[in-house]
Amino acid sequence: MEHADQPARPAPAHGDCSRRAALGSGLSCAAYVALSLGLATSPARQLFAALPKHEVLKTEPFARVEKIADGVWAVVSTPFAGGMDQPRPTTFSNGGIIAGKDGVLAIEGFMTPAGAAWQSNLALALTGRRPSHVVLTHFHGDHSSGLAGYGHGAELPAMIATETTRKLLWERQAAEMKEPKGPLAEAARLVVLPDRVIMDPSQPTEIDLGGRIVRLQPRAGHTASDVTIELDEPRMVWCGDLYFNGLFPYYGDALPSQLAQHTSAILKDPDALFVPGHGALATAADAKPYLELLAHVEAAARAAHQAGTPAEQAWQSYKVPASLGEWTFFRPDVASFAFTAWYRELDKS
Ligand SMILES: [Zn+2]
Repeated sequence: MEHADQPARPAPAHGDCSRRAALGSGLSCAAYVALSLGLATSPARQLFAALPKHEVLKTEPFARVEKIADGVWAVVSTPFAGGMDQPRPTTFSNGGIIAGKDGVLAIEGFMTPAGAAWQSNLALALTGRRPSHVVLTHFHGDHSSGLAGYGHGAELPAMIATETTRKLLWERQAAEMKEPKGPLAEAARLVVLPDRVIMDPSQPTEIDLGGRIVRLQPRAGHTASDVTIELDEPRMVWCGDLYFNGLFPYYGDALPSQLAQHTSAILKDPDALFVPGHGALATAADAKPYLELLAHVEAAARAAHQAGTPAEQAWQSYKVPASLGEWTFFRPDVASFAFTAWYRELDKS
């Protein structure tokens, strides 16, 4: 089982990922994480390589595969675990594979077609078949740009996303793409095809893979439309970027009060194993500091807004208290997205 191709060094995955472009309003979370890691210190790299919680079946330079149960695997990306001098990582977000008797569901489209092809090959090696379904947790490029890599002729899987995710993916690629035939454009084209599966945003969608039911739960907060992928046995939740483990979260497209509500609902389950969008697998105990961080940011933003402090000034004086543990705060301006998002919401209320 080898991965599809060793990606050559950067043609940008989706448009201009330069610092200047990323600092503009169109910053996607791929660009954010990529830039952030570009400045990362060695503890930050170690964070992405944090110790596995389960049996590690396979380790690649860019990810590891952890077996959670028969038919259930988590992919934990470790994009810069070996240092910054790596080719552009094949995967960037986390992912996963869930198999039943009749079908195989793959989670995320990844940042590059090579990443999706790698996960497709992984599914084939682990289960004897390629994915029958692919689910996107949200529209950001590091979770979707590689979708085309799942295409194996007639075997193209059902690609499941909400209508809002499809729309945002399409709009973002149109706004960001300098190369109209680049991977994000191809991903957008694939998910807007009329035969693609659209998920009902008002209720959970259940997919019966044959002896295994997967529940796709519509959520919001990291973006206007997020989806968690959930299993009851074993109890697992793929959180997408509603949960960043160990990294200060990206709020560029966030709806912060919804982020607070949904993360509280998801991450307090004492029996669940959580797969964050980025970072190592976690339990509710591991996730507690993240919820506290979100609440701390909210309190600081509300207080500053109430006092009439401009957002620009408020984020610059924001500090994560030491009591919340160590957060990788790669960029000096990362909190600006959080304060801007909160002010956007508070200005309306
Ligand atoms: Zn994201």
